[in-house]
Amino acid sequence: MARSCPGGTGMYCPKCDAIKTCTAISAGKENKVQTRYYTENPDINFFRRKRECQECSYVFDTGEISLSFLQELTELRSEIDKRHRELDDQKLLNEAAADALESQSAILFKERRKLKALVSGIQDIIEAQEK
Ligand SMILES: [Zn+2]
Repeated sequence: MARSCPGGTGMYCPKCDAIKTCTAISAGKENKVQTRYYTENPDINFFRRKRECQECSYVFDTGEISLSFLQELTELRSEIDKRHRELDDQKLLNEAAADALESQSAILFKERRKLKALVSGIQDIIEAQEK
């Protein structure tokens, strides 16, 4: 059974999408609340805490990390967004190039047919002169 801690901290509630008073709660030993976790990257660790919004009662987990790590994550996220924008721009350029190529291909196809007709006409003239 969850147990609320007295007081609370003004922090971001994902459900309210606003800063609200949230209390730390304990969910029991089986959930290892407030345990330091390590992922497959040993330099990534955080202090987990279960919180309950006092406004909407939404329960969510938070992870306390160093500000330098948060800064790194922010920079990486910005870089990913930048790369996505570059890919979108490149996609538009590729589509424009494909359209232009298709258009030029159609023109060349028509020119080729005209050229074939000309060559055929010339061959007919030559053959007629040889007879
Ligand atoms: Zn809330």
